[in-house]
Amino acid sequence: MIWFTEYQTKNTGLTVRVKEAKRFNSQYQEILLLDTYEYGKMLVLDGAVQTTERDEFIYHEMLAHPALIKHPNPERILVIGGGDGGTVREVLKHQSVKEVHLCEIDGEVIKVSKEYLPTISNMLDNEKVKIFVEDGNKFLDERKGYYDVILLDLSDPVGPAEALFRRAFYQKVKNALKEGGILTAQTESPFLQTEYFKSAVLEIKEVFKNVGTYLAFIPTYPAGMWSFTMASDDIDIFENSNMERIDKLNTKYFCDKIYISLFSLPKFVSELIT
Ligand code: SAM
Repeated sequence: MIWFTEYQTKNTGLTVRVKEAKRFNSQYQEILLLDTYEYGKMLVLDGAVQTTERDEFIYHEMLAHPALIKHPNPERILVIGGGDGGTVREVLKHQSVKEVHLCEIDGEVIKVSKEYLPTISNMLDNEKVKIFVEDGNKFLDERKGYYDVILLDLSDPVGPAEALFRRAFYQKVKNALKEGGILTAQTESPFLQTEYFKSAVLEIKEVFKNVGTYLAFIPTYPAGMWSFTMASDDIDIFENSNMERIDKLNTKYFCDKIYISLFSLPKFVSELIT
C-alpha cells in the first residue's frame, strides 16, 4: 500500500492513499502526479499539493469569478502561475473575455497537466489563450496598463514564487492593470500558514486602495481553510455589482449567496489583517 503525506507544517500534514505515482523533474521543482483513492489525480510540486481532480473546482472558481464578476467588462485577463489550466478554464466562461495570457514559469507543469489532468487543462489550447513560459516577475516588467483582471495562481511563497508575494511585485501588478483593473491573489491558509497569509495581505494593502480578503473551504489545502485577496484602486470591490452574470457561469461552488457575503470573515481572520 502506498501513502503520500504533505507536511503542511512541521507537526501536521495531509495523508492520502495512492494507487500509482509518477515523478517528473523540471529545472524548477519536483513534480509528482499521484492517482489517489479519495481525490482522483493529484498534482504535487516540491511536496505541496497544488490541485486534485475532486476539489479543484472550488479553488479555481473562487480565484477567477469574484473579480471577473465585479469588473464591468473584463476583456484582457492575465493568470500568473496556474500551469494546470484550471483558472484559465474558469476565466473563459465569461463571455466578455477576448484574450487570456497565462504566464507559468515551468513548462513541465503545463505538459504534465495536459497529459494527465485533461478535465483541468482542457481549455489551454483555446484560441483566446496565449501561454508564456516565463517568470511572472520578469514578465510584468514589460507590461503596463494592459489587463482588466490579473489573477495570481501561485505556489507557496518559497522557491520560484517567493518574490511574487512581495510589495515590489504587487506594484508591478498594479502598473500592468488598466484603469478600473482588479487583482485577485491566492493568499495562503490563515489557520496554518498565518505568517504567509498576514504578510501577503498586508503587502497588497500597502499598494492598493481597496483591498478585501475572502475564504473558501478547500479539503486538500492546509487546514481546509484557504484565502484569496482582491484589490483595486478605482473599483469599489465591496459593491455587489453585476450579480445577474453569476447564473450563466455553470459553477459548483461559487454562487450569488457566496458573492453577497464574499468578504464576511471570521473574527480571528479579520484581526490578523487589520
Ligand atoms: N492552486 C495552487 C496552490 O495554491 O497551491 C497553485 C497551483 S499552480 C500549479 C502554481 C504554479 O505557479 C506552479 O505551476 C508554479 O510553477 C508556478 N509559479 C511559481 N513561481 C512562479 C513564477 N515566478 N512565475 C510564474 N509561475 C510561477
